[in-house]
Amino acid sequence: MLSDIEIARAATLKPITEIAGRLNIPDESVLSYGHTIAKLDGEYLNSLSSKPRGKLVLVSAITPTPAGEGKTTTTVGLGDAFNRIGKKAVICLREPSLGPCFGVKGGAAGGGYAQVVPMERINLHFTGDFHAITSAHDLLAAMIDNHVHWGNEPVMDRNSITFRRVIDMNDRMLRNMVIGLGGKANGYPREGGFDISVASEVMAILCLASDLKDLRSRLERIIIGEDNDHNPVAAAKIKAAGAMTALLKDALQPNLVQTLEGNPALIHGGPFANIAHGCNSLIATKAALYLGDIAITEAGFGADLGAEKFFDIKCRQANLEPDAVVLVATIRALKMHGGVALADLKNENIAALETGFANLARHAENLAKFGVKTVVAINRFHSDTEAELDKLQDLCASIGLDSAVCTHFTDGGAGAEDLARKLSAILDAPKEDSFRLLYPDEMPLWKKIETIAKEIYRAGEVVPQGAVLKKLKSFEEQGFGDLPVCIAKTQSSFSADPKAKNAPTGHIFPIREVRLNAGAGFIVAISGNIMTMPGLPRHPAAENIDINEDNEIIGLA
Ligand code: ADP
Ligand code: MG
Repeated sequence: MLSDIEIARAATLKPITEIAGRLNIPDESVLSYGHTIAKLDGEYLNSLSSKPRGKLVLVSAITPTPAGEGKTTTTVGLGDAFNRIGKKAVICLREPSLGPCFGVKGGAAGGGYAQVVPMERINLHFTGDFHAITSAHDLLAAMIDNHVHWGNEPVMDRNSITFRRVIDMNDRMLRNMVIGLGGKANGYPREGGFDISVASEVMAILCLASDLKDLRSRLERIIIGEDNDHNPVAAAKIKAAGAMTALLKDALQPNLVQTLEGNPALIHGGPFANIAHGCNSLIATKAALYLGDIAITEAGFGADLGAEKFFDIKCRQANLEPDAVVLVATIRALKMHGGVALADLKNENIAALETGFANLARHAENLAKFGVKTVVAINRFHSDTEAELDKLQDLCASIGLDSAVCTHFTDGGAGAEDLARKLSAILDAPKEDSFRLLYPDEMPLWKKIETIAKEIYRAGEVVPQGAVLKKLKSFEEQGFGDLPVCIAKTQSSFSADPKAKNAPTGHIFPIREVRLNAGAGFIVAISGNIMTMPGLPRHPAAENIDINEDNEIIGLA
C-alpha cells in the first residue's frame, strides 16, 4: 500500500468553493486560502442559529496503546461512508500541532484512504491559527512582565506569575528556565518556561468560545498570578484582552477542507486532551450541526478522558446533546491490554483478546452512564485474523453492544458503510435514553473530582495532596465553584499509572495540583506528572521529512 502522503498527493482535489456549495454556503462567506482551503465567515455562521440542528456523533476510543487506534482515520472514513449512503455528514477534527508532527506521532490528518487533504498544508502551517494563538498567548505573557517591570497597578507578586510562554514545537530545553537575566534594563530575573501551544489556555478558550465577544470576555478572565495580598489577578487588569482578540479574530473562523472522497471537513482548534478538553472548536461543531444532517467530531485519547470531557465540559458549556458515540477499537490494542507485547501483536491470540476486551467493556459501561448509545468501530488492521474479528464481534454482542468491522483505511468510505448504517438506525430512531451529565454544576469541586475518578476511572480512593483542598476551597470562595473539572492524567490507563493496562479497579488516585482556568471555564486537577512541553524522541519524525526533486514535501506520515 502507498504511504499516507503518496495517497494524499495522488488525489484530485475539488475547488473548495464546490465543497462549500454542497453545504449551501454562499460564495461571499467562503474566505479562500488558496484553492482547496477556506475559512468560513463568522457572521454567516452566526446567522445559521435559527436553522434546525443535525445529529451529533462523537468518535472516541478505548485506552490508547502504542499499537494505535485510529480515531481520526475512523472519523474521516465514517464521514465518507455517511455521504456514500446519502447522508449529509460534516466531519469535525482538531488541527494538527507541529510538536507531534515532527516528534513521535507524525501527522494528524487521518491515514490510508481515509484522510483529509491537502494533508501537507493541514499538518504544517495550515491557515496560521496556531501562530495566532501562540502570538496572542505570548502577547499576554509579555504584557504581564512589562506590567511588573514598570511597577504598574495592581502591583503583582512577581513570584506568583503562573502564566508561562508557548511555542508550537516539542522542545524540552524550554521547559524550565530563568528569564530576565542581564540587569535591570533587561527585565527582572524569575523562573519561567514554555509549554507547547496546544497546552495554552488561549487554545482551550478559542475552542470553547461561542463568538468574538465571548472570546474576549474569556480572555479577560484568565488568571495570571496574584497581587501582594494573594488575591488572584485576571488578564483584564493588564488590559491585554482587546489586543489578544484582535490577533485571534481570523483564527476564530473555522477552516473548511475536504476528504479524499470530496466530502466536507471542518478542522479547527486543537487543545490537549489532558490539561484541556481535547476536542475541536465549539464554533466548528455548531457549524457542522447547522450545515449538515450529521456532525461527526473526534475527542482526544480514550473515552475516559476525551468523551467524559466532551460531555461534561463542552456539551455542558454549550448546551449540546450527543446523539451517539463511536468507540474505536483495534484487535491489536485489545491484545496489548490483554498482556501481549508490541512485537508479538501480529500473531493470532484469542485468549489475550478476550482478556483485553475488559478495557472496551469498561469504556462502553462508562458511556452508558451518560445515556448515550455506543457503537463499536473495529478498525481493521492487516494482521487481524477472521477468528479474532469474529470473536470481538461476539464479545461485543455478549454485552449488548453493536459493532462493525471497518476497512476505511484500505477501502475509503466504502469500508465504513456498515458502521454508518448502524449509526443511522440509531440516529433515525426515537431515543431510548436521554443524555445526562455525570455531575451537576452545584456539586462541590472536590466531590466532582471524586465522582469522575470513582465513576469513570474506578478508583478506590481519591487522595488530595499538598494544598489541593485549600486551593479548591479558595476557588469556591472566589465564585468558581460551579465550574466543571478537567482531569489531567495519563492517557495510557484508567488509573494514574500508565503501566496499569486493561481495566484496573480500586486503585489510589492522587490529585497533586489544581489550577483555575477561569477563561476556559474549568478547574484543572492534575494527577501524576503531566507533560505540557513534550520532548522529541531519539529519532524524531522530522529526520524523514524533506523536499523532493519536484519541490514536493515527502516523509510526512
Ligand atoms: P488517533 O486519532 O486515534 O490518534 P489516527 O487516526 O491518527 O489515530 O491513526 C494513528 C496512526 O495509525 C496513523 O498513522 C494512521 O495512518 C494509522 N492507522 C489507522 N488505522 C489504520 C489501519 N486500519 N491500518 C493501518 N494503519 C492505520
Ligand atoms: Mg486523532
